[in-house]
Amino acid sequence: MKKKSIEDIDVKGKRAFARVDFNVPLNDAGEVTDDTRIRASLPTLQYLVKNGAKIVCASHLGTPGGDKKPDLTLPPLQPVAQRLSQLLHQEVTFSEEIVGEEVEILKSQLKEGDILLLQNLRSHPGETSNDPDFARELAKNIDIYVNDALDDSIYSHASIQAITEFVPVSVTGLLLKKEIDYLTMALENPPKNYTVILGGARISDKIHIITHLVHRAKKILIGGGIAYTFLKAKGVAVGSSKVEEDYFQLCRDILQKAEEKNVKLLLPIDHIAALSIEPEVTIRMIKKSDQIPEEMMGLDIGFETIRLFAQEIKDAELIVWNGPLGVFEIETFSAGTVEIAKEVAASSATSIIGGGDLAAAIHKAGVSHQVSLLSFGGIAMRQFLSGQKLPGIESLSEE
Ligand code: AMP
Repeated sequence: MKKKSIEDIDVKGKRAFARVDFNVPLNDAGEVTDDTRIRASLPTLQYLVKNGAKIVCASHLGTPGGDKKPDLTLPPLQPVAQRLSQLLHQEVTFSEEIVGEEVEILKSQLKEGDILLLQNLRSHPGETSNDPDFARELAKNIDIYVNDALDDSIYSHASIQAITEFVPVSVTGLLLKKEIDYLTMALENPPKNYTVILGGARISDKIHIITHLVHRAKKILIGGGIAYTFLKAKGVAVGSSKVEEDYFQLCRDILQKAEEKNVKLLLPIDHIAALSIEPEVTIRMIKKSDQIPEEMMGLDIGFETIRLFAQEIKDAELIVWNGPLGVFEIETFSAGTVEIAKEVAASSATSIIGGGDLAAAIHKAGVSHQVSLLSFGGIAMRQFLSGQKLPGIESLSEE
């Protein structure tokens, strides 16, 4: 089953709704502080401009009412319009509204190659509720729906799923096409030397993919916070590192399955530990033969683990990496992620790296251009590689 892409259809003179991912960080002055996601959408937008589409562009920014910041008022997308305009070297019209009469007027005024950016999609309640009436409004006078937002394709939201029911054709943008192509290869037809690197904070988020990959990968290298639940489940002392006790049995089952299947599942053998997760905190290197002291947490993989993982990567044909190997946001705990990023970049393997955190770390390591696919869709990537269906991809038109 292959999904249609913008390259499979004629876009000239057509009004295209481009659902992109402009969920970028803003500072207190409302300025875009990292435009990587905007840049990632440029190939698709430039393609549409060059081929004479009339473009209505839309994204969400922030998560109001989400569990992290319940009082967050929605940031407007104006600063994004300005940044996009600078990057494209062309005017981007901004619409304060998402749907309604004024938007329809702006849509009707679009000439070939023009871009209109709508206000933050999630400022309308119909977006997250996948409201068909809102989706019908979004789709009004639209000829082509283009999805270029893998990260958001896990949601049944109006601009992702319901809208596709009200447009003549729904296709992938160039970024999403690349992401689907690579992930499909990893899911359906991976090479023999398939190496997976997993890190990040919560094992509960990753257990599904590990359970799935233990039947497919040749090697699984585990670091980050999730490694400590595995280590504790094996009876290793991990001090006060964050562990999820509910997953101990599942971790033991996975370790046993890996052994049965001849999958090399490696855990950190040494650590960088500290009393707390703070920039100025005193760190302790915990050598292979030593235990993490009771009051300390493992916050990065140690140098021997870096060497071990680097060695295991060398003969890989395909590397899939999800989740940082330490608290990379703090310089002191970033070496594991940064060094392994350099190894992955230097290897001749096809490399698929996913997740906003990890994407930031790869940029920090300065090797993003050497990675085959660097995707923001961390959860989407895990779901895809676990064989789950993503609403935003399922609803696109087939070739
Ligand atoms: P995730 O979204 O699950 O991929 O987790 C990413 C987060 O995991 C990052 O913010 C890291 O700081 C955090 N992380 C990585 N390693 C550790 C660790 N050893 N202990 C605690 N948090 C970690």
